[in-house]
Amino acid sequence: MLTVRTREELTAATRDLRGPSRKVCLVPTMGFLHEGHLSLVDRAHDLAETVVVSIFVNPLQFGPGEDLGTYPRDEARDLALLEARGTDVVFVPTVEEMYPAGDPQVTVSPGPMERRLCGAHRPGHFRGVLTVVAKLFGLVRPDVAVFGRKDFQQSVLIRRMARDLNLGVRVETGPIVRESDGLAMSSRNAYLSGPERTQAVGLHRALSATAALFGGGERRAAALLAAVEREIANHPLLSLQYAEVVEPEGLEAVNSASPGDVVALAAFCGTTRLIDNVELS
Ligand code: AMP
Repeated sequence: MLTVRTREELTAATRDLRGPSRKVCLVPTMGFLHEGHLSLVDRAHDLAETVVVSIFVNPLQFGPGEDLGTYPRDEARDLALLEARGTDVVFVPTVEEMYPAGDPQVTVSPGPMERRLCGAHRPGHFRGVLTVVAKLFGLVRPDVAVFGRKDFQQSVLIRRMARDLNLGVRVETGPIVRESDGLAMSSRNAYLSGPERTQAVGLHRALSATAALFGGGERRAAALLAAVEREIANHPLLSLQYAEVVEPEGLEAVNSASPGDVVALAAFCGTTRLIDNVELS
């Protein structure tokens, strides 16, 4: 495994590892890796001969008062995990390497979907995400890139960016990997205290309850969301930021749910913001 820290090293490394019959797959991450990230690396190996993983905590996607300064990091552990999963190249740039001229003047606008779901509560977040992903696509020039379904709105926006801007990258999505009690794996779970960790499973329980209701024939979004709210209320350390039933193309809220629609939510567990979602089927 090659660990590279500069754009020049990255270009040289990927030049040597691509070819007409050697496709390149990129897995962008912010590090502090867990099985959710590593499942994407496994998927990348199924999709391409060369797997590139980036580890970069992107300041552009954090708002004022968010956790940029405290975001968990453990580069040595991340590199060992990636090496064990057969990663070919790991790109670990500094902020100066990614943004040598400071904050970019030209950024990627997420369009109307920016105001939906998490975007409504994190102004500028998805502009920051799309901008760094576009930069990573430009640097790595992957044939395919893999993102987790855990960050549902992000995966929809990146797929849409690749399509609308003809970036020539196929965007794939991997399923949510969960802890044994159902909590979606997240680097931010490291922030949770013991009691918070116990109650964080309420997000999954809320989504499971609403999915079961849909499976039983309930189609009214209001009733599906009432089930979410009831389950969250059973967990006093959780406070719901939003829960919505949306269609998966434009992320518009629906009144009557159909198979393929998604229930997405964000909740604070203590001071830690967690997200999760489920596809209705
Ligand atoms: P992050 O490091 O949080 O920016 O995540 C990097 C990638 O891993 C994103 O595409 C996430 O959606 C994905 N990811 C994070 N958590 C999970 C999970 N529990 N299951 C699957 N993918 C995940």
